[in-house]
Amino acid sequence: MAKIKRIRTKPCSKCIERNDVLYRVRIEEDGDWIFVCPACLEMVKPANPHFQYGGTWKSKKRH
Ligand SMILES: [Zn+2]
Repeated sequence: MAKIKRIRTKPCSKCIERNDVLYRVRIEEDGDWIFVCPACLEMVKPANPHFQYGGTWKSKKRH
């Protein structure tokens, strides 16, 4: 059966690349929550005193 696979992805707020796993983070004091890919997370996390982690977003919600 040819089933159309719907892949839901989100673009990373930093590099604009679409990814199926993104991290919801806040990197500015009182800033907006943004979604970043794992690669960008590694860049924004260590250097940021306002870093807050808000959860992981995955496109695959079921197996
Ligand atoms: Zn990114």
